This record gives sequence, structure tokens and C-alpha cells, in this order.
Amino acid sequence: MSLVCFPFKEEDVSVVVRNIECAASHPSIAGVLCVGFSKGETWHAIESAKSAIEQSTGKSVILLQQRRIGTSLRGGKGDGMNTALVYFLDNTEYHRLHFYDADIVSFSASWISKAEKQADLDYDVVRHYFPRSSTDAMITWLVTKIGFALLWPNSILPAIEQPLGGELLVSRKAAEILIADQRVRDQSDWGIDTLYTFVMAQAGLRMAEVYVPEGKVHALYGGLQDLRTMLVECFAAIQSLRNEVIVTESRYRIENPRPVPEAVKQKIGYNIEKTLKLLKSNWSPRQKELLQEYFDPALANGMLHAIDWPCWSFADEEAWISAYQKFLDHFEKGDFDWEELLFKIWVARVLNHTMKNVIRGYDAALGALRDLIWETQHNAAIQL
Ligand code: GDP
Repeated sequence: MSLVCFPFKEEDVSVVVRNIECAASHPSIAGVLCVGFSKGETWHAIESAKSAIEQSTGKSVILLQQRRIGTSLRGGKGDGMNTALVYFLDNTEYHRLHFYDADIVSFSASWISKAEKQADLDYDVVRHYFPRSSTDAMITWLVTKIGFALLWPNSILPAIEQPLGGELLVSRKAAEILIADQRVRDQSDWGIDTLYTFVMAQAGLRMAEVYVPEGKVHALYGGLQDLRTMLVECFAAIQSLRNEVIVTESRYRIENPRPVPEAVKQKIGYNIEKTLKLLKSNWSPRQKELLQEYFDPALANGMLHAIDWPCWSFADEEAWISAYQKFLDHFEKGDFDWEELLFKIWVARVLNHTMKNVIRGYDAALGALRDLIWETQHNAAIQL
């Protein structure tokens, strides 16, 4: 029997409670572990619903506040997920641990069944992947997948469809490997998904991705501003790993995707109008100096022009790969000017993708993203 963990902060309580009930009702699940950031409104709603769910399903619902496991980085989702790993390893009656974001409106029992069935075929890790809008997942595509392709082109990492996904199943073996790793315990922030994925590949775990055709419907972002902290923490996680090597081979399988639903194809993942203003915000003289000292002149000049009038044509695929390598060498997390430069250049890249690729339709946009990963991986591999 398995354990499901929902890490949560503050979410729509009716969605969270419904998801807990759904997981507890599943025949493969013996317990549902809710790991909260703090004792806020969502915590109290789960506390009130807990005994009724336990009575109706006969399963345990455990409510825990996340422990401070990392010591140096911001205490966030990483501490929440690692708290769940420790609980799972201490409670040996559970054989597998599933993680799901608590805010998913489209969550259903089939997500659990799919992962369980795949794990029956002796995989240590089963990840869910979803059809995504062509303007969604811009951190996954431009930061994580690009980083994996540049740094470990011959590993399985660039092939993993959604390396930042919070929906996954781990075996006891995988959980033991993850929590024994000091780098994982330290990654208490948004970088946790990167670390889990990287360590799984480095340890040579057997990994599978299963496809969830209905997609992941969850709370949406406003402007890209909402993603700034996540961007910085995900990039810094990759940067912290840049000198690591992967020598093991992992077994990896991926379920074929199906046609993408029209609603997903037509969705715009962020508010473009709000985002345009970000290009001219929060500039300091030092940012301009760093830009001119470290980055290609065409990119630097383009960014400076964008202070007066929104423009993005300079932030093409090639410019991003070149800038990414400069960031790998020089970026300093916690330094406001470096963080702002990373954020604004990424914003320009996302706008360029939107106006150049997305405008040509869904298939062209996804094709451009896939080509960028493939080209980057290929170029990095032949330079090894
Ligand atoms: P996104 O789906 O990547 O945009 O991330 P979300 O903001 O939806 O967060 C994913 C899940 O993690 C949700 O269930 C959040 O409530 C939860 N979450 C976010 N931050 C924290 C945290 O600091 N601690 C815990 N325990 N859960 C968190």
C-alpha cells in the first residue's frame, strides 16, 4: 500500500479537501500526508475535514507542519517534500510515496492508478507529464531543460519531458537515495524538483513518465513577475550542480502523448500586457554595467533599448544560450542586480518566443522549443 503526500501553502480549500478525499478513497492508498508550510487557513480547513475523511474511507489522514531540514536556503517547498520523505521512510508500512500539488482541479484517482501500474513494472520513479500550453512551462523549457542539455547532454536528463513536475511516485529505494543526499536536504526552496530529478539520474534509478491526457488545471499566473522567485531558485539549483558528472545509465521509458486538447492549445499561460512593463522596471546603474561587461553587445544593446520601448527581437534562441552560459559562470544568487538581470533577460526571451513562435500556432511553438533543446544538446555533446 502507498502513501500520498500533498505539500501545501495557501490554496483553494475546497480543491485541497476534495483531492485529499479522492486520494484516500483509492484502493492502493493507505494514508494521505498533508505537509503544510504553516498553520494558516488551508491547514485549519484540512484539520476540520480530517476525521470525516478518515471515517468515510477507513484511511489515515496525517497533517504535519514542514520541518526545517535545509539550513542555508529559503525554507519552502523543498523542506515540505523532504519532510514527507522522512515521514515515509520512518513509516515502513507504506511501500511507495506519491506527491501531487494540492491545487490541481483536474486531479483524479486515475493519476494514482497510472503511477501504481507503471511502478509495478519495477520502476523506482514514475513521473506524470501533461499537455502544456505553448506559453506555459517557460522555466522548465528555458532554464531546466536547457541547463540539462548544456551540462549533461549524454545523460537522460534532457529527455525528461517535465523535470520540474511536482506529480511523481518514488519507491523506498528512491526515497532513501534522495534523503541520504546532503544536496537534496539542503535544497529547501523551489530548486527541490531540479535536485530530485538530477539525483535520480545520477544514481541511475529506473525512471518512467506517464501521460495524463486531460492536463493539469491549476491556479494560473498573472504577469511573469509571479515566477521571479521560482526562476531564480531553479536557475541557482542548476548552477550549483554545474561541476557534477553523471556516469551511470538510467533505464527510462516514456508513454506516448496523445493529441493536445484544444483548450490547452488555446490557453495563454501569462498576462502579456503586465509582462511588457517588466522590461523597463528596477534598473540600476550596476545592472547596466554587468550587462555590458559580461553579455554579447547585441543582447546588451537590446535590453537597454527595451527600457524606453518594449522590444524583444534581440532575445532569440542563440542569444539566450549564450547568455545562459554567462549566467552559469557569473550569476550570484542573493545579489539583487544579478537576479534582476537573469529575470529581465528571461522575460525578453519569453516575449520573443511568444511573438515569434507562438504567433505561428501551437505546433510551430512547441516545435521551436523542442528544436532548441535538441540543438543545444547536440552542440554540447560534440564539444565534450
Ligand atoms: P507551480 O504549480 O509550480 O506553479 O507551483 P504551486 O505554487 O502551484 O505549488 C505547488 C504545490 O506546492 C502547491 O500544492 C503549493 O501549495 C505547494 N507549496 C508551495 N510552496 C510551498 C511551501 O513552501 N511548503 C509546502 N509545504 N508546500 C508548498
